[in-house]
Amino acid sequence: MDLLNTLVDKGLRRELPTREEALAVLATSDDELLDVVAAAGKVRRQWFGRRVKLNYLVNLKSGLCPEDCSYCSQRLGSKAEILKYTWLKPDEASQAAAAGVAGGAKRVCLVASGRGPTDRDVERVGKTIEAIKEQNEGVEVCACLGLLSDGQAERLKDAGADAYNHNLNTSEATYGQITKTHTYADRVDTVQKAHAAGLSACSGLIAGMGESDEDLVDVVYSLRELDSDSVPVNFLIPFEGTPLAKEWNLTPQRCLRILAMVRFVCPDVEVRIAGGREVHLRSMQPLALNIANSIFLGDYLTSEGQAGQADLDMIADAGFEVEGAGTTTLPAHRADALAAARSAAAQGPCGSSAAEAGCGSACGGCSGHGHEAVAAQASAPEPAAVPQPAQAPAGEVRSDLVAVRRRGAGTDLAPNA
Ligand code: SF4
Repeated sequence: MDLLNTLVDKGLRRELPTREEALAVLATSDDELLDVVAAAGKVRRQWFGRRVKLNYLVNLKSGLCPEDCSYCSQRLGSKAEILKYTWLKPDEASQAAAAGVAGGAKRVCLVASGRGPTDRDVERVGKTIEAIKEQNEGVEVCACLGLLSDGQAERLKDAGADAYNHNLNTSEATYGQITKTHTYADRVDTVQKAHAAGLSACSGLIAGMGESDEDLVDVVYSLRELDSDSVPVNFLIPFEGTPLAKEWNLTPQRCLRILAMVRFVCPDVEVRIAGGREVHLRSMQPLALNIANSIFLGDYLTSEGQAGQADLDMIADAGFEVEGAGTTTLPAHRADALAAARSAAAQGPCGSSAAEAGCGSACGGCSGHGHEAVAAQASAPEPAAVPQPAQAPAGEVRSDLVAVRRRGAGTDLAPNA
């Protein structure tokens, strides 16, 4: 297929495909799907080999958000029966993180609900980062605290954060239909602040919210332009009690095409399968590892994922390997560029040290991974089996397909890691 040969050639050269080529990937037939996966797999292996990076979510603060992101179970007015709690203490968060690291996670993602952090929140998260790094040598920490004010990204970096996540979620044209309390431009601004501070930018999307193919291509092109090092691809988990509860629009085949399109447009970045992996890819999850090089281990922010051991077994069974702490995730050219950006940020505009700090949140926590090892909780129940829908029909609430997180952070039960 000429299209796929062209896309592989471009991906190996880090050349941007045309919009028509990206759209054509989304329009391929089921008969062509394995060829699409194989082509995206060639690009994936060029830049990331057969490694899978594991990330672990710690939901520092859950629910009661004043923002109105339609996809989010933590939004203003959400009726979703999720866990609600305020900030975890640094030692609680650190214990949660340790469970993920023990399970094989290389990066810990610290997420808090809310529009953005106050300076006090930034200070609190800074202490949490210090506690995690002290307890887990070599672990990467990414903060996801919402919209950042001036100086907060720098303060997070000074506290030891390696990365900052803030998703664009959908195209600029449709953003206003998804969220009214902040804008697409606000989100772009925060990703740029993280970049400028020398943090590795993590920014991705949510598919399945009723968007068009053009919207998906638009947001992925914007992510390439923002030069995010990692791109989480969320598949909407339609939580009962949220405005998008009936949006069951995805099939496993559609998810694979979306992941492949992201890989072709952003060939050398960490493509991470994020929330909704189990619910929408279902038995096709191992196939998706041929395209994406990163997943979350265990549970999400407010919903449960498959058992952490099942994640590890899946990776091994599919012939991939968990990326070790001593391996640099990004290809050399990207790792070098990030190191140069860090160095430039440290110099500051006039050669002075760029101090300041702060952090905030608005994470795209549609299905966020969240975990936690709340202190010495004894035995947790066996991880619940994640529902395996045959085919969820659009237009219906399917609470039976969404397992709300009831263990880990914010509970007395051990996490799933
Ligand atoms: S995505 Fe973040 S900012 Fe939006 S409602 Fe959820 S927690 Fe709040």
